[in-house]
Amino acid sequence: MPHAGGYAATDATQPLTPFTFERRPPNEDDVVISIQYCGVCHSDIHQARNEWQISVYPMVPGHEIAGIVTEVGSRVTKFKLGDRVGVGCFINSCVHCETRDVDLEQYLPGNVQTYNDVDVDGSRTQGGYSSSIVVKEGYVLHIPDNLPLNAAAPLLCAGITLYSPLHHWQAGPGKKVAILGMGGLGHMGVKIAHAMGAEVTVLSQSLSKKSDGERFGADHYYATNNPQTFEKLAGYFDLIICTISSQIDWDAHIKLLKVDGTMVLVGLPENPIPIGAFSLVTGRRSISGSAIGSIKETQEMLDFCGKHGIVADIEVIAMADINSAFERVIKSDVRYRFVIDMATL
Ligand code: NAP
Ligand code: ZN
Repeated sequence: MPHAGGYAATDATQPLTPFTFERRPPNEDDVVISIQYCGVCHSDIHQARNEWQISVYPMVPGHEIAGIVTEVGSRVTKFKLGDRVGVGCFINSCVHCETRDVDLEQYLPGNVQTYNDVDVDGSRTQGGYSSSIVVKEGYVLHIPDNLPLNAAAPLLCAGITLYSPLHHWQAGPGKKVAILGMGGLGHMGVKIAHAMGAEVTVLSQSLSKKSDGERFGADHYYATNNPQTFEKLAGYFDLIICTISSQIDWDAHIKLLKVDGTMVLVGLPENPIPIGAFSLVTGRRSISGSAIGSIKETQEMLDFCGKHGIVADIEVIAMADINSAFERVIKSDVRYRFVIDMATL
């Protein structure tokens, strides 16, 4: 069995520590990947700390994986040794789900998450804060040659999580789109919505990252700690993508939508969110949610990013710095995604 080294959470309160484990033996339709880089998503923190009450330990987090193919099974057709590849938030589906031709695997019950889940063979899945991974070829993505692997890694979760709703709700020319919260997900949303041709506004807690937002392609940048923002922008947006996982004044933000506008939640607060009927009813407004994207859509997003030269703004860290990186993400002190250099493991 392939031997892997990594870092794992051993319970909800302890720091991540070095951990060695066995990957499953590769099957004939599997790809073995030497992991070069792995992004640090806020979801990794939610799960390492059991904030969604679904965590099982030991847990190796990480679902923004970029690496190089080192082995392919005899029936693999789409990948060869040396290919630059990515793996995102899920690595398998039950046979029932796989045979449904919907390209919405992320919403199907048999979807197997990259870590903190049970694979179809009954083994526990472990993520990308590790040296290698074995993945069925249907769940592996090609990373375009012009994108550096380290800055492309966050596309596998942050990138697709923003691309999918922007595409689904048709962000493009003539559409006024707000990105609420400019962290790892949010900064990808600004870049992608801008490349799609939408008018993009960042709604951030303060103006401290305004020049970065403009560099990413934002047309406007407003602070939500200023009450005038809510007066000025009332009824303005077609689409608001909310990347925040804290509680905010939901009604005040929903009222920034025009008639028939939609707020899409991608951030995942641990507690339910209170919303008054009036903020929706008075503008025929909608609130919705969106999770990552299908494999087909993820490849489409990677190709779109290749075409437009879009990658994440990253801070590369050593594996041993993961616990301080978690603390900095929680304090919104990251510009804009930490990426672990696996050579430091
Ligand atoms: P992140 O880098 O920590 O970004 C979150 C941003 O939210 C911060 O940069 C900050 O933006 C804003 N924020 C933080 N605290 C706030 C507060 N108290 N009030 C208002 N705004 C606040 O996290 P991320 O990795 O982008 O992930 C964001 C959320 O999306 C997490 O809950 C994660 O689990 C979830 N997620 C969902 C999916 C999905 O498929 N739906 C996929 C990946 C992640 P400003 O500094 O600009 O205010
Ligand atoms: Zn993620």
